[in-house]
Amino acid sequence: MKKRFVVLFTVLSVTAFAQYDRWQQRVEYEMDIDFDVTKHQFTGNQKLTYYNNSPDTIYKAYYHLYFNAFQPNSMMDVRSRTIKDPDKRVGDRISELKPEEQGFQQIKSLKQNGKDTKYSVEGTILEVDLAEPILPNSTAVFEMNFLGQVPQQIRRSGRNNAEGVAYSMTQWYPKMAEYDVDGWHPNPYIGREFYGIWGSFDVNISIDSSYLIAGTGYLQNAEDIGMGYLPEGESAVQKVDDRGKQTWHFYAPNVHDFAWAADPDYIHDVVQVPDGPTLHFVYKSDVNIENWKALQPKTVEAVQYINKHFGKYPFEQFSVIQGGDGGMEYPMATLIVGKDGSLPGLISVTVHEMLHNWYQGVLATNESLYPWMDEGFTSYAQDRTLNHLKAEPSDDPLGPTISQFIRIENALDLEPLTVHADHYLTNQTYGINSYVKGAVFLHQLNYIIGDKVFDKVMLTYFDKWKFKHPTGHDFLRVAERESGMVLDWYYEYMVNTTHKIDYTVKSVEKESRKTTTIILERKGNFPMPIDIAVTYEDGTVENYTIPLRIMRGEKKEEGLTVLEDWPWVNTEYSIELPVKVKNITKVEIDPKGYMADINRENNSYTTEEKE
Ligand SMILES: [Zn+2]
Repeated sequence: MKKRFVVLFTVLSVTAFAQYDRWQQRVEYEMDIDFDVTKHQFTGNQKLTYYNNSPDTIYKAYYHLYFNAFQPNSMMDVRSRTIKDPDKRVGDRISELKPEEQGFQQIKSLKQNGKDTKYSVEGTILEVDLAEPILPNSTAVFEMNFLGQVPQQIRRSGRNNAEGVAYSMTQWYPKMAEYDVDGWHPNPYIGREFYGIWGSFDVNISIDSSYLIAGTGYLQNAEDIGMGYLPEGESAVQKVDDRGKQTWHFYAPNVHDFAWAADPDYIHDVVQVPDGPTLHFVYKSDVNIENWKALQPKTVEAVQYINKHFGKYPFEQFSVIQGGDGGMEYPMATLIVGKDGSLPGLISVTVHEMLHNWYQGVLATNESLYPWMDEGFTSYAQDRTLNHLKAEPSDDPLGPTISQFIRIENALDLEPLTVHADHYLTNQTYGINSYVKGAVFLHQLNYIIGDKVFDKVMLTYFDKWKFKHPTGHDFLRVAERESGMVLDWYYEYMVNTTHKIDYTVKSVEKESRKTTTIILERKGNFPMPIDIAVTYEDGTVENYTIPLRIMRGEKKEEGLTVLEDWPWVNTEYSIELPVKVKNITKVEIDPKGYMADINRENNSYTTEEKE
């Protein structure tokens, strides 16, 4: 008997583990970079140790060469000029770049396990015929020499942007593409999303000694550098070589990318979050310095709130860096605009980009396939975090986002959320789906499963799936396990279709002398559970919830009476209340306004209306 129990226990624990895990590749980058600030070029030696943890034998490999996008007639250039609604920040700017303003990554040599490989460059992708196959559960070592040229800043990456930041170095090195359960992901770069392999980066950057560098990773040689990286009171002896350069040594564990920025004019402030990471603020001296100082305690407060509600940030450092073009997230750091603009704007962009470190930096869904789980979840958490930072927080921080989505659904034909980020028909629909509908996805899920369960879902999702590239279904499974409900229907309607929600209070009629019948109608093609509030003439309110039968469960909240299930095929649902019709003054669907119901006008019945 005893033995059988042990066996059973083992099987259960394996199942529980498998629930939240799957194989994934791993990389270790070691790079020596020698940077020339007069030519805006750099040479690199890259040693990449690749761990094939998949059950597959690998015969080909792919690297991203993102800088090659910044050349006339690149796919990014053509796409930027020919999409229906071009991004004004890009437009035809790439087509106008002169040779010295273009970007490139040229491969000078590439060996695998000491043997020469055959390779070819196809735009932003390096295709490699491996010298020998990489067997399952084995390792390969790639050694590469390359030359890079930093483009004039067009989007995110580059030099000399509008705010005068010398170098924003993002997607700057040949980066191995991810291989996962869906195969290789060598997406040609057209300016949008990123997906990388978990691993470590050990990077030496030699650059003119007047420059300050900030970015991903912990500085390993602060004593040679100083510039704000040593604790107050300690001083550094700056080590400068005979070319006038110094070497910065960074190490970043368990990240999927490495970004940095450099400028000779950077100011560097360091602030500690109690029980949290050290924050580095790096900005140029010609910004509104008062704003950058006021931003710092707000960022501390934001990290504390996010840690509590969305999961604990797992690194000891985070850097907010003026990169000078929009805002963009990178592991352990963000590059943001920071010269002009208001303090609320600066706080908002910092909170948004910082939150990406939870959804893009640490969970790291494949954002090309699930942009709504990155931008949308980030936007959702941003609304709540910014609300928390207000002097008078509102009860419904997502209210404006839901209203915005209702206006959009009434005005536009959207594509479903399943569209790959690069392949949306317009920039507009990509933006709405990724940022707005992704946030609505979470807020409506909150409506379905209730506040307490929802908060638990967000924390469990982060804890169980951090560093594992979860998919949409992985998130859904967490929500199902925490709520005890079946939620696949919600995922299918929200993600795979563009169906819309519309419910109405059809009638409130006298049934007999002492009873009243309320009839609700589903007019839209997206079924949802329905909360209703009934207000009586003495001012009392009763709250009910009608679960959908396919949920196989219901929301449990104090003061909420659960009514009989609504089979989704039925268009009408009636409720009989043991009260006289004249005692009812109002019947309202979704009184908290969590649902994106496209016609809210017909969501309530009031006695005035009846007259
Ligand atoms: Zn974002």
